[in-house]
Amino acid sequence: MIELMAAAALQTMPAEDCAVELVVLGVSQDGGTPQVNVQNDPAWADRSLRRRVVSLGVIDHVAGTRYLFEATPDFREQQHDLNALAGMSGAPDGIFLTHAHIGHYTGLMFLGFESMSADRAPVYTLPLMADFLSSNGPWDQLVNYRNIELRPMTADDPVSLSERLSVTAYDVPHRREYAETAGFRIAGPELSVIFIPDIDSWEEWAAQGTRIEEIVMANDIVYVDASFFDNDELPGRDMSAIPHPRTTETMDLFQDYPGEIRQRIRFIHYNHTNPIRYEDSGETREVFERGFRIAREGERICL
Ligand SMILES: [Zn+2]
Ligand SMILES: [Zn+2]
Repeated sequence: MIELMAAAALQTMPAEDCAVELVVLGVSQDGGTPQVNVQNDPAWADRSLRRRVVSLGVIDHVAGTRYLFEATPDFREQQHDLNALAGMSGAPDGIFLTHAHIGHYTGLMFLGFESMSADRAPVYTLPLMADFLSSNGPWDQLVNYRNIELRPMTADDPVSLSERLSVTAYDVPHRREYAETAGFRIAGPELSVIFIPDIDSWEEWAAQGTRIEEIVMANDIVYVDASFFDNDELPGRDMSAIPHPRTTETMDLFQDYPGEIRQRIRFIHYNHTNPIRYEDSGETREVFERGFRIAREGERICL
């Protein structure tokens, strides 16, 4: 237990006197924790067990700008917390969206006429996602009323936000009913962070030409999809048909890498059924004992 707490403490580094910092604003799968219609989830009674939907914030303290990754159903709280940390108000200087599933973009609604009525908040996405937002209601109203301004990205082509901060989108394999799915590389003056909240499988990405092993070797911190812990998680469901690399599968993939490499991986986007949502579960202990980390809300990293 002491080892576990030491590992958890390492996750949160002080970010004072930091030019560019990253903060974790949410860790849950799209449906949030507790999930609707799961009446017996202990998080209904114990608010400390609630987990917001997956999101990162990035603050460039020198430029006086801040950026939000994902516009989730918890957008109100996440924008509030990001602005409080940055000492600012108003819409973010940029919102980066991975894809068109409910946990990742529907928070855009709070930028619109019925809520804060933002003035041309820049929204960065890959091209199909930009097309989706500009050609489907209610999202096209945000474009038409100029609450948001779409900034389509080109995969693998870095967008420079300041001389200290750039963001690159990757095109990752994940079911695409409305648009493609992005992962992001966020590069600060010292460190680079990868954010891949949703992916169908590491093998499919490798078949597209990108190996997660090389991504982890080339970057400092890698937030990855941990929707499910293992294949025993959804009783009565054949999980072989359900995508997403299992937490155990990703750990197995990196088992023989040095500890310095394994500790770069931080699990995020966990479903309400994944026991790593609890600080004290056996599965949480297993993740730390195997040398990996778990993303927690409020953790701050100086980039
Ligand atoms: Zn998701
Ligand atoms: Zn998704």
